[in-house]
Amino acid sequence: MKEESVKTSAPGLRSFIPVSSGSHFPIQNLPYGGFRRKSGGQTRLSVAIGDYVLDLSVVEDAGFFNAPHLKGKTFFAQPTLNAFMAAGRPAWREARETLTRLLRHDVADLRDHQRLRDAALIPMSRVELQLPVEIGDYTDFYSSKYHATNVGSMFRDPQNALLPNWLWVPIAYHGRASSIVISGTDIRRPLGQSKADDAEKPAFGPSRLLDFELEMGFFIGPGSELGKPVAAAKAPEHIFGMALVNDWSARDVQKWEYQPLGPFLSKNFATTISPWIVTLEALEPFRCAGPGQDPAPLPYLQCENNWSYDIQLEVHLQSEKMNAPARICRSNFCHLYWNICQQAAHHTITGCNLRPGDLLASGTISGPEPDSYGSLLELAWRGTRPVQISPTEKRSFLQDGDTVILTGWCEGEGYRVGFGEARGKVLPALEWNAGK
Ligand code: MN
Repeated sequence: MKEESVKTSAPGLRSFIPVSSGSHFPIQNLPYGGFRRKSGGQTRLSVAIGDYVLDLSVVEDAGFFNAPHLKGKTFFAQPTLNAFMAAGRPAWREARETLTRLLRHDVADLRDHQRLRDAALIPMSRVELQLPVEIGDYTDFYSSKYHATNVGSMFRDPQNALLPNWLWVPIAYHGRASSIVISGTDIRRPLGQSKADDAEKPAFGPSRLLDFELEMGFFIGPGSELGKPVAAAKAPEHIFGMALVNDWSARDVQKWEYQPLGPFLSKNFATTISPWIVTLEALEPFRCAGPGQDPAPLPYLQCENNWSYDIQLEVHLQSEKMNAPARICRSNFCHLYWNICQQAAHHTITGCNLRPGDLLASGTISGPEPDSYGSLLELAWRGTRPVQISPTEKRSFLQDGDTVILTGWCEGEGYRVGFGEARGKVLPALEWNAGK
């Protein structure tokens, strides 16, 4: 991936579209997303550049995608990226090279073609971003050792916080794809069962311990064949790009339901993702080693230890009384113990097939420091040290009206490759009425 990365990720590249220094979307990024004009019309596919979206169907219609793997195809005349994701890395590289060239400050094709520019470049203020992928399956891992250790310490035994399988098995559960929503979608507080330790039987009602989880996820490009495992070393061929993920969690429901089969309703009501998918090509300059792994993983999980990424992550929280959000967490994707290649290899070792558009999320990305914990459960240590979010308010869990904002970016030389944000506001639970 290195050579291509030099051409399309060079720090000196710039666009004729002005990009402010803090922007997440310089020419080195070009993340994929969906949008609809506020004035109406269909969902279209785009890349972000500065404060604009570039309509890829206009670029395709104008004949610019004429490289071998793109010529004659209609990847962008559709409302989702699935067909393009399925096409694989040669097509992704050609599209990235084409778009980088078209947007360069010193290339006239689009820059000086006013009619085309007006059709293709739309200010973000005039569009509503849309989920750009049909997500068939969603899996959530549990790959931060810090997070697993924290949760194990709180709920089981600080001396034996990690369960004996954790250092051998990239633990995960099959999540729910139907309730994955794009940033900005309100989140309804779920109803459910919970049981206090000293109660005789469970109670039913709105979850009282609603939480967020700071995660990232990767999208599958070309799928894999049923019955045929994906080798860890080949996994990158199947990975299109990454997004921010908030795996909203009802901790009281989770505690009562999770044994023996793991989380079910405590996680299935909503998962928020950021609107932009940042490709592995754009992330390439920020690849880094993950933590050392001891014991050595079993052979099918072994791969080069250079498949993590230096992605700075933050969580901000704003109550209805606050004028601006407060930062409550700073973490980094590179803290994850199991990397994306190991996750894909583990997922498919049984022969389970992956399909284009599937989402595999990381699990809560907690780091070693108390302010790097990726959930309120950990930040407030199960309610024992509430987080001060403003001079007058503290939080152990989320309250109605709270807005949670995840954000993340890679810091380049004079530019940022960012993910935008994954934002959601908590609405009060609905009242439950039998039969209505
Ligand atoms: Mn999770």
